[in-house]
Amino acid sequence: MSWLFTEEHRIFRKTVRRFVDEELNPHVNEWEKNGGFPKEIFKKMGELGFLGIRFPEEYGGTAADMATTVVFCEELGRCRSRGLTMGVLVQTDMSSPYLVHFGSDEQKQKYLPGIINGETVCSVVLTEPDRGTDLANMNTTAIKDGDHYVLNGSKVYITNALNADLYFVAAKTNPEAGHRGISVIMVERDTPGFIVESMGKKLGMHGSDTGHLTFDNCRVPVENLLGEENQGFYYVMSRLAVERYVAMASLITASEQALEDATQYAQEREIFNSTLSQLQVTRHRLAQLHTKLEAARQLVYYTGWLYDQGQEPTKEVAMCKAFVADVGCEIADACLQIHGGNGYMEEYDIARFYRDVRLWKIGAGSTETMYEIIAKQLKI
Ligand SMILES: Cc1cc2nc3c(=O)[nH]c(=O)nc-3n(C[C@H](O)[C@H](O)[C@H](O)COP(=O)(O)OP(=O)(O)OC[C@H]3O[C@@H](n4cnc5c(N)ncnc54)[C@H](O)[C@@H]3O)c2cc1C
Repeated sequence: MSWLFTEEHRIFRKTVRRFVDEELNPHVNEWEKNGGFPKEIFKKMGELGFLGIRFPEEYGGTAADMATTVVFCEELGRCRSRGLTMGVLVQTDMSSPYLVHFGSDEQKQKYLPGIINGETVCSVVLTEPDRGTDLANMNTTAIKDGDHYVLNGSKVYITNALNADLYFVAAKTNPEAGHRGISVIMVERDTPGFIVESMGKKLGMHGSDTGHLTFDNCRVPVENLLGEENQGFYYVMSRLAVERYVAMASLITASEQALEDATQYAQEREIFNSTLSQLQVTRHRLAQLHTKLEAARQLVYYTGWLYDQGQEPTKEVAMCKAFVADVGCEIADACLQIHGGNGYMEEYDIARFYRDVRLWKIGAGSTETMYEIIAKQLKI
């Protein structure tokens, strides 16, 4: 057991692990083929208390610490559909926290219990066809008209889009004011003028659905504004850190699993009257990758500990995102190589992991963006 975790965390880990082993992993091949997992998974997770880990108890949450979230991410990271892992983390840590942190009591009463019990599925809606990293210059507008905002524009790559009931949308409420004119508005699925379409096939993460959203004079009541008007850019920047952090916590165990698979494969694969693992180059490569992964894991744990000390570890989260994504991609490449031709076949999970992990040098902020944040924090 690691220095970050208590006995309570260990018990919670067992519950999540059992759920992943019994309720998720037996079905992942089917869900990957279908391009998404059933919405009922959210309800099952809600019943087990997985969807409100750090949320207030008065709305059905557990008010637990970041270390508990790390446990959840680590165990969910062992799901053989990394797309499912991402979809669930979008619900728990990438979208609904906007409501918890910036919503009014009335808004929380209306939406939070359903989010925590898994009846309401959520998406976070930032990226546009022409603006991803450069969020400050987004083009989607939400112009006030009486007691409504009228939304126009389009958004791309939205995870959970097809399953979602509630969308946390960033849009310009004051298009002349640059990043000081952005707000976050909740949009319900059935709102007229709101169109949700699948984006079609993607390289990896096949277990998650990815949508294209269009707002065509979509009228949303002003009560759906989260927090203060024109403060949305700051809200997004503050929440993106946790989004990046949980993704990397789950990538640690996904990478570990790939290493375990490759180690077992190398020990069983016969070559030159011995096994692959007896070749020094294989043993050293695996040892090197385990070392890098352990360094990545300790960076994730240290950052989680900083969160639990009440800090906002901006620099460390960016370091996690850049480093863990790099280590994960290196592990995927090396472990596929160890599998030889078998690694290229769908039958082996390493082929899927190789495709899935590549997202994390781009999604939730590219590696280049992370180095920009780190350099800024270091005042370089
Ligand atoms: C499967 C998937 C799921 C996603 N889910 C969501 C979601 O749920 N919600 C959502 O809002 N978005 C989502 N995204 C979007 C994702 O966050 C963006 O793709 C990402 O932020 C990068 O934006 P972009 O694709 O527009 O790339 P761009 O902003 O066009 O950047 C292109 C490339 O430029 C380089 N670059 C960027 N900044 C710098 C810099 N400062 N210096 C040097 N080079 C730089 C990087 O290599 C980067 O990859 C998802 C994407 C994918 C692929």
